[in-house]
Amino acid sequence: MEEKIPYKIYLKEDEIPTQWYNVRADMKTKPAPLINPGTGQPLTIEEMNPIFCEELNKQELDNDTRWFDIPEEILDFYKMYRPSPLVRAYFLEKALDTPAKIYYKFEGNNTSGSHKLNSAIAQAYYAKKQGLKGVTTETGAGQWGTALSMACQYFGIDCNVYMVKCSYEQKPFRREVIRTYGAKITPSPSDTTQVGRKILAEHPGTTGSLGCAISEAVEVAVTNPGYRYVLGSVLNQVLLHQTIIGLEAKKAMEKYNIKPDILIGCTGGGSNLGGFATPFIGDMLRGEANYKIIGAEPASCPSFTRGKFAYDFCDTGMICPLAKMYTVGSQFIPSANHAGGLRFHGMSPILSQLYDEGVFEARAYEQTQVFEAAELFARAEGILPAPESSHAIKAAIEEALKCKETGESKTIAFNLSGTGYFDLVAYKQFNDGTMTDHIPTDEEINEALSKLPKM
Ligand SMILES: *Cc1c(COP(=O)(O)O)cnc(C)c1O
Repeated sequence: MEEKIPYKIYLKEDEIPTQWYNVRADMKTKPAPLINPGTGQPLTIEEMNPIFCEELNKQELDNDTRWFDIPEEILDFYKMYRPSPLVRAYFLEKALDTPAKIYYKFEGNNTSGSHKLNSAIAQAYYAKKQGLKGVTTETGAGQWGTALSMACQYFGIDCNVYMVKCSYEQKPFRREVIRTYGAKITPSPSDTTQVGRKILAEHPGTTGSLGCAISEAVEVAVTNPGYRYVLGSVLNQVLLHQTIIGLEAKKAMEKYNIKPDILIGCTGGGSNLGGFATPFIGDMLRGEANYKIIGAEPASCPSFTRGKFAYDFCDTGMICPLAKMYTVGSQFIPSANHAGGLRFHGMSPILSQLYDEGVFEARAYEQTQVFEAAELFARAEGILPAPESSHAIKAAIEEALKCKETGESKTIAFNLSGTGYFDLVAYKQFNDGTMTDHIPTDEEINEALSKLPKM
């Protein structure tokens, strides 16, 4: 008889991985470099250093080092909330009546309510080590701002957060958490920056976007000595830090001889899917294993499934470096009706390259079906999932129901990137039956794509 897998698999504290994994070392075609929009040339470390932290820039540009040691101070902080459990979703399997075996890695068990803290603590550490006064950033739904405020507070540096206006208004409690950790928080677009004033003049009444908030945070960082800008997703360094998720999951699976067939994550900028899946993708790239990997994105901001693989700005204000990525265009602003998170227009250059090579697939879901999956999961497994994470839940359920049809007992693992306790306005819309779906038309997407920079 098969050994019974526990409901929750916890590694021991001293089994937490001590290195991050850099999938670029195993990629034949490396992700395209960031480009300086001024020169049209790859961004040099000298050009990056005034904007971002030096050590993080080295990580950003390093396509060759396979393993990075996690500094002791970061490992200590990880022990506050890691290892995170790998949970066997027995109750969900039963609710679906599926022969599939479903697992999820639960990253929501910290105050940020998401995986974001894994990279926030690393970025704050390197900023502190460089002797900086503080960092600036944007936050969309608020998880990144919370995570960074916690991390900066831990290392005693300033944290200046620009929060997308519609989230700032929808999630007043999120901002109180951020303020409790001592960070300064401003709704974006704001009149505190040049770019914010410009966006407000061009789009009066706009509820903002991540792209606008990034432009503002970058402007503040480069115009204030002792400050640098940090980003919670998309960048290579962020995927690197997030591999703690996949490495832990892999170790836990190896302990119990669990062999995943399908790995799933939701995709906003790609950091949780990248962190969860790239340690497994590395096996694939080295020809050691094969998995089906799925990225789940919102139909209202469909970067992978309807975007273009092209150089684009990372921000609406078009002041940031250009990244080659799947994008629906930096001028694309998702419908204000969209409450389900994952609103960023672009996608990690690492994941974009891998997706272009067909290493994994992507699916887009409408928010009402995502919330149906969230409700089913909450009722079966007890955790109220983040709307973002619920895209991954939706894909996992879809795969599990396929197994029910075919009678196959596949092993499905997904990353439960966070919890939804600050997303109750969205849950209210869903519960009231007033949630609507907005799928952008081809014209809307083509319009935004027509403004891609000419390379
Ligand atoms: C930020 C966030 C995401 C999306 O960002 P990625 O970089 O794609 O991971 C997903 N889930 C949660 C809970 C988040 O906070």
